[in-house]
Amino acid sequence: MANATSVDLVSGCGPQTCGAGPSPMTSARDAAPARIGPNAIIRMAEALDEDVGPEVTRRIFHSCALDGYVDAPPAEMVDEREVSKLQAAVVSELGMAHSRTVSRSAGLRTGDYLLKNRIPRAAQSVIRVLPASLASRVLLAAIRRNAWTFVGSGHFTATSGLALARLSVEGCPLCCDLTATTPRCDYFAGTFEHLFRSLVHPVSEVEENSCMANGALACIFEIRWR
Ligand SMILES: [Zn+2]
Repeated sequence: MANATSVDLVSGCGPQTCGAGPSPMTSARDAAPARIGPNAIIRMAEALDEDVGPEVTRRIFHSCALDGYVDAPPAEMVDEREVSKLQAAVVSELGMAHSRTVSRSAGLRTGDYLLKNRIPRAAQSVIRVLPASLASRVLLAAIRRNAWTFVGSGHFTATSGLALARLSVEGCPLCCDLTATTPRCDYFAGTFEHLFRSLVHPVSEVEENSCMANGALACIFEIRWR
C-alpha cells in the first residue's frame, strides 16, 4: 500500500441528519440550508432519462416534490436537502442495485461537465503531464477548494500517496436519507473516477469503502491507480 500523507484531520461525527452537517453540535438545521451545485440534480435527471425514460424520471421527481426541475433544470445552486430527497426517491423507485448504476452514471456525467466547463484546459494539460502521485495532489487541492459546492454542510477531507488517494465526506448529503447494506454514494464515486481517469491515471479505480448509509462515521472513497 502506498504512503498516504495526511492533509486534513477528520473530526468525530454523530448520527447522520440531513442538512445538519458533520457535527452533532451544529445548529445548521436552524440556519439557512446549505446549497449544492445543480449538477447533482441535472445530471441525475439526464442519467434517469437515458436509463428508465422520461415517464419514470418524472414520477421519481414528482415523488420527492421536485417536479419543477424536470421542465426547468436548476440554473443555480440548490438546497442540499433536495439532493438528499432525490437520491432517496431514486432508491425507492428503482431499488438499491439499479439506483446505484444510475447514480454512478450521473456522477460520470458530472465529471465530464466539470472537465468541459469548470477546469481550465490549460490546467488540465499541466496536471496530465505530472507524475500520477503529484497530479493526484494537485487535483485533490482543487477538489478541496471547491468541496463546499458538492458536500453542502458536510465536511470534505483528502489524503494522497504514491498510488492511492483517500477522500472522506462527513455529513454526506447523498445518503443522509438512506439506510443501506452496501455503500450508496455512487454519484460521488463516478465523479471522482472520471476526474482521476482523465487527469491522474487512466486506470484509476474508485471504491467507496465505508458509507454513512451503512452506519459509518463518514463516506470514505479510495482511489487506486498503478
Ligand atoms: Zn456514502
